[in-house]
Amino acid sequence: MLIDNAPTTYYDTSMSTSSLKYQRAYRAKNRGKLNAQARAWRAAHHEKANASSRDYHRTPEGKAKAKEYRDKHRVQLAKYARAWRAANKDRVNTTRKARYLRLREEVLAAYGGKCICCGEKHHHFLSIDHKNGGGKKDRIARGFREGGRNWYKFLLTEHPGHVQILCHNCNMAKGHYGQCPHQAEKGKRP
Ligand SMILES: [Zn+2]
Ligand SMILES: [Zn+2]
Repeated sequence: MLIDNAPTTYYDTSMSTSSLKYQRAYRAKNRGKLNAQARAWRAAHHEKANASSRDYHRTPEGKAKAKEYRDKHRVQLAKYARAWRAANKDRVNTTRKARYLRLREEVLAAYGGKCICCGEKHHHFLSIDHKNGGGKKDRIARGFREGGRNWYKFLLTEHPGHVQILCHNCNMAKGHYGQCPHQAEKGKRP
């Protein structure tokens, strides 16, 4: 990868021995300063350097190289990833939670995005209801022990017809009394 104006270290072969010596001495003496300059350059051209690397990794050659690297260092990379996650627990949890809520919202939207009984639309209040009860049994029978990501993904891809969206109020009422008062008023069962 070649970037314009990148500081380069080169030794002119035509340089005299004394000036080579001088250059080496200068670099040795000013190592800290020169390293700081190089760091500053990389920081200032971060986007350019990243974009260039990104473009390369989108080419077939770049993709193949990246795969080769991952395959070769699989164990080490997994170890690094584990260590990173352990050191960044808060960030991992925040990301995981956000991803989970996004998926939940997708599922709610796929089933109409509102309580089919009272029309409540705030997804904070909505739940996924098994029309004929036995939610936990049904999930386990389908291989989903918890109502987590995999259950949501199943609802998204398979879109089974035996679940519906109810708000927690309507769901509770249905659970405890067999019918939500909203529907009793209309003479129906949610
Ligand atoms: Zn409701
Ligand atoms: Zn209701």
